[in-house]
Amino acid sequence: MKKKFKLKKSVVKKLKIIGGILAVILAIFIFYSSQISSLTQLGYSKEASRRILFSFQKEYVLSVGENKTLNAAFESDDYQEKYLDQYSKIDYQDQKHLIRNINTLIEKGYSNSTISMILAHGNDQDVSEFTKRDKINYLEEFYSISYAKLRNYDRYVDYSNETGEDDETTVLAVNLDMDKEDYSDPLIIRDFSTDMLVNKHRSLTEDYEPDDLVSIDSEYAADDTQAGARIAVNAFISMYKDAKKDDLDLVINSSYRSYQDQVDLCDTYRELYGENYVQNYVAQPGFSEHQTGLSFDIGSRNSNIFAESDEYIWVQENAHQYGFIQRFPEGYEAITGFRAEPWHYRYVGKKIATYIYEHNISFEEYYAIFLDS
Ligand SMILES: [Zn+2]
Repeated sequence: MKKKFKLKKSVVKKLKIIGGILAVILAIFIFYSSQISSLTQLGYSKEASRRILFSFQKEYVLSVGENKTLNAAFESDDYQEKYLDQYSKIDYQDQKHLIRNINTLIEKGYSNSTISMILAHGNDQDVSEFTKRDKINYLEEFYSISYAKLRNYDRYVDYSNETGEDDETTVLAVNLDMDKEDYSDPLIIRDFSTDMLVNKHRSLTEDYEPDDLVSIDSEYAADDTQAGARIAVNAFISMYKDAKKDDLDLVINSSYRSYQDQVDLCDTYRELYGENYVQNYVAQPGFSEHQTGLSFDIGSRNSNIFAESDEYIWVQENAHQYGFIQRFPEGYEAITGFRAEPWHYRYVGKKIATYIYEHNISFEEYYAIFLDS
């Protein structure tokens, strides 16, 4: 009886100890969970939150609040405690080596705001390459322009020194490869889109052909051999019909031209007027917008000279409502690379066409500012 009681007492004692340990573990767990959740609620990942706790930086992080760069720093194996304050002041970018690159840029002596600017103007590869350079002073001159590209830095400097152009013109020109010779080292376009840029620096391949090519009824064209991308042809027909209501008579004189058509065209002009003429006035094969099926040379059935016709005045004022822009306007020869062509219209869609119409800019400028990445 006595022995039995003793046994019970020791069991109770052991249970109390186990219970006590469990209670402590539970308390630690609850405390730990609440600490973690105070961080995760601020947007920190579980992994970052765990590392924040174990490096005893919770109070600092809570004082900063939500901060994506700080989160990335704690998630990264490149994290360095001595740069903690800088991390929190540098704008986040979704880049693979973000923290490693920030560390290097800090070591080179760049300020937090300059580092933010550097990160914002390139992708991970651009920034990683940039970190290998010696420190550059006065980066702001080019990179205060939102579409300046980090990887073009040397070309900006060269172009600006050679031409004496202002920073904005320099960035625009270099981004458009205008510092390169015409037709040399072009960017090759492989995907069709209604906002693609084709010019003397951006070329289509020899076998490129629009996949929605449709022939154009001779009601709308000078002959029955014309064709274009369906979306552009439909837009032209709408424009044609509305112009007709105002007693105006539009006509498509030239439309889709294949790569080979352009080869033949260049040959013809070369025989007629010589190589110099071709270089200045005719796009080389692959570099003509007519190969996109989105461009039409428009004429008037009431006048031999389109630029002097009522149709021209109407088209200038209304084409954007159908998605067309005058692609080579007067005064923009330096940027488009072509002399003014009042007859050459390009389909880019209503949104872009309207913007270009309202802001009086070239498609090159629109492309460099809004579409080029
Ligand atoms: Zn044309």
